Amino acid sequence: MSKTYKYVFFDLDHTLWDFDANAEAVLRDLYVLHDLAGVGIVSEDSFIRDFFETNAGLWAQYNVGQIDKFFLRNQRFRLIFEAAGAIMNLVSDEYLKEFNKQFLHNCPRQTRLMDGTIEVLEALHAKYPMHIITNGFEEVQSHKMECSKIAKYFDRVITSEKAGFKKPFAGIFNYAMKWTGANAAESIMIGDNLDADIKGARDYGMDQVFFNPDGNLHSEEVTYEIRNLRELLEIL
Ligand SMILES: [Mg+2]
Repeated sequence: MSKTYKYVFFDLDHTLWDFDANAEAVLRDLYVLHDLAGVGIVSEDSFIRDFFETNAGLWAQYNVGQIDKFFLRNQRFRLIFEAAGAIMNLVSDEYLKEFNKQFLHNCPRQTRLMDGTIEVLEALHAKYPMHIITNGFEEVQSHKMECSKIAKYFDRVITSEKAGFKKPFAGIFNYAMKWTGANAAESIMIGDNLDADIKGARDYGMDQVFFNPDGNLHSEEVTYEIRNLRELLEIL
């Protein structure tokens, strides 16, 4: 048992809400529904891999302001279809638009959570005021939290859209402190993204828990590192 904290901040995607499992389930449905084999994407598995690779690259660009929400939302599946080897003259704008629309509607309504999420939130909820700080979009994050039944554990959901700044920039943490009445010195940030969550919080003067379920190697200095959310119960 070490330092005592008064305020707990969580990232949402890939930390509590299992983005990968939820996105994969929706993409497998859409693969069949939209006959992706018929436009030349012959392997469902490689389509899924291409989605994650392209999507992660776009989000990394979005987080540092190289592309905007409009580009991310509207060009994502064109780039993914290209990467997956689709015959692009069989893929109309309308078709991509519909595919994108269904993905954006269905994905946030999926309910898979990271291992231990409910157990840990239930325990911590009794001890701390808890809040979310997310770079995800305002209109989808609420669906994710409501549908997966974790909304009730959190007092405030700070999105980058509301704050006008994204993690890792100080502006979003400033906004979070003001809105929640917390202060950096007594707060801890839990997240899976070394740049956005961990370096962001560290530079702001907050302690951090790096949630690293795959045990990826890195050389950042972090306050705590965990591979399973249940380890939080030993820290907090
Ligand atoms: Mg995350």
